[in-house]
Amino acid sequence: QAKERGKNNFQFYSSNLNGISIRKMEMETGLRKALEQNQLVLHYQPQMSLITGELVGIEALIRWQHPKHGLIAPLEFIPLAEETGLIVPIGKWVLREACRQRKAWGTLGYHDFPIAVNVSVRQFEDDHLIDYISALLDEFDLKGIHLELEITESIMQNLENSTIILNKLKELDVLLSIDDFGTGYSSLSYLKHLPIDKIKIDKSFVDDIIYHSNQGKMVKTIIDMGLNLNFSVIAEGIETNEQLHFLKENECKIGQGYFFSKPIPADEMVEYLLSGNEKNGGIPF
Ligand code: C2E
Ligand code: MG
Ligand code: MG
Ligand code: MG
Repeated sequence: QAKERGKNNFQFYSSNLNGISIRKMEMETGLRKALEQNQLVLHYQPQMSLITGELVGIEALIRWQHPKHGLIAPLEFIPLAEETGLIVPIGKWVLREACRQRKAWGTLGYHDFPIAVNVSVRQFEDDHLIDYISALLDEFDLKGIHLELEITESIMQNLENSTIILNKLKELDVLLSIDDFGTGYSSLSYLKHLPIDKIKIDKSFVDDIIYHSNQGKMVKTIIDMGLNLNFSVIAEGIETNEQLHFLKENECKIGQGYFFSKPIPADEMVEYLLSGNEKNGGIPF
């Protein structure tokens, strides 16, 4: 292709850029279709008490069941959805589907745990979010505490506005957690002034704890400070016994990761719940 146009680097470069924007446009069209044609699905990952081994929460994670390309991971399409604003209708779909599923699990007798949903900044700042969530809780007859919103530290960049939104959400009694904690710019003492319930220690810290004692100290510091400030603290991305052991030793009370279960479809989650797996998560307590 570059040859056809001569050895003009600039032209090659710009045609390449066009290639990228065409792919993006195709993907955007595809995503709109995905929303209309029910190609989006939620998978679910359990959050376990590291003290009793019981299931204490479930995180909903989106996937795109593409007719040609199979199951597509969120990191492949959520950034584009954020860029184009499509995250707002997609995010609404996620919230509604998660509430519907939470209601269905409640009907089966599983009442106690909240369902956690990831909320992008753009969605968080959308004027209709609060009314939408309030209407969903009514529609599915859920209490606020049945729903947990995972937001990232990036909302701190617009602190004044975010504080207002967080306070309004808290009036609905929904639980608020900070996802990927430690990768952004906020400090725990800052978060103390906001109605935050929980912090999720980012997987990257958990990955390293067994290899580097400094990372271990860091994780221990986050846990201690979090508990002192009255946040629940959950560790993401637990894969090994060693990591679990370290976290338990250092009084982290909740965990999530492949060690317990990968994210799984709703019907498998029901089997997981029924199997009594949630009673101990396979941990010898
Ligand atoms: P996240 O919210 O931090 O979710 C945790 C990610 O780590 C998930 O990836 C999960 O499958 C993965 N994970 C959990 N435990 C382990 C483990 O032990 N080992 C490893 N290697 N990975 C683990 P996933 O599902 O691909 O989601 C990636 C990110 O996409 C999420 O990160 C979240 O930021 C975003 N996302 C997912 N669903 C939604 C959604 O419905 N809306 C929005 N706005 N973002 C979403
Ligand atoms: Mg999350
Ligand atoms: Mg996370
Ligand atoms: Mg993460």
